[in-house]
Amino acid sequence: MLSRSLRRRFGVTSFAICVAIFAMASAADAVEPTKKVLVIGIDGCRFDALQRAETPHLDALMEAGAVAQPTRIFPARYREADTISGPGWSNILCGVWSDKHRAMDNEFTAPNYEEYPHFFKRLKQAQPDAATASFSDWSPIAKNILSDSDVTLDAEREDHNYQLSDVEIVAAASKHLREADPTATVVYFGQVDGAGHADGFHPSVPTYVKAIERVDGYVGELLAAIESRPTRANEDWLILVTTDHGGSGTSHSNGHENPEVACSWLVVSGDAAHRGKIAGERGQVDLVPTALKHLGVSVDPAWKLDGEAVGLK
Ligand SMILES: [Zn+2]
Repeated sequence: MLSRSLRRRFGVTSFAICVAIFAMASAADAVEPTKKVLVIGIDGCRFDALQRAETPHLDALMEAGAVAQPTRIFPARYREADTISGPGWSNILCGVWSDKHRAMDNEFTAPNYEEYPHFFKRLKQAQPDAATASFSDWSPIAKNILSDSDVTLDAEREDHNYQLSDVEIVAAASKHLREADPTATVVYFGQVDGAGHADGFHPSVPTYVKAIERVDGYVGELLAAIESRPTRANEDWLILVTTDHGGSGTSHSNGHENPEVACSWLVVSGDAAHRGKIAGERGQVDLVPTALKHLGVSVDPAWKLDGEAVGLK
């Protein structure tokens, strides 16, 4: 039989072990959630038309995040590039303006993506195990701008029917977001720009507004895919949504002086994001530093990025 003092000591030891186990369990619970980024690009989407449209999913993202609007699509220092998709998506995905990446239009005659690459390259330099994926249906994104993507879908059709190819995009991207373990994913939808070129870029144009509403449904599918992940509870997703330019009439080329064309917007949403309007004059080039900061990548001054992280706590 144990003496009273031994029993007391045994009791104290048991208590100490329990405390130690509890502390270990708490430490395990407190493990940093895995940081992940989803960029959603909606080509040619005017903010006033977005506000006119019924967009419950984009509205929810804005409510759960920070919004920069308007956002510059070219810098004060340089306006030689056209106000079209090639320069716009290069600004957004490479984090520098056209005087650096040299995508001046949609011809990609002499781009300098070697020196100013798609941000997937910077992410992989810092985190070689990071998993990257790009889903788009405007081919130059995959063929010209993209680099270091583990999974790539270029769904552009010969007939350039973006309404059809966007369906393929959302299906593939949702599956990837549900089943894979992606660190950074870019999903691009082309049909809003397609509707603008066909019928007009304006909140009063029903087909243009309807295209925005369809894409909002796809945004909902992407978000539902993320929420269905078995590991979601221990993940910290940052959702970035943006556009490359607006439009006026059925065009947006050479729109530097037209605010209907020459402005974008940026949504930064998720647990890591502030709530409300992002102050100051922001630019498309802010998306890359924002994504990299969330993923824990320090920006090297040698990369000469033009923007800064915005909307994060
Ligand atoms: Zn565009």
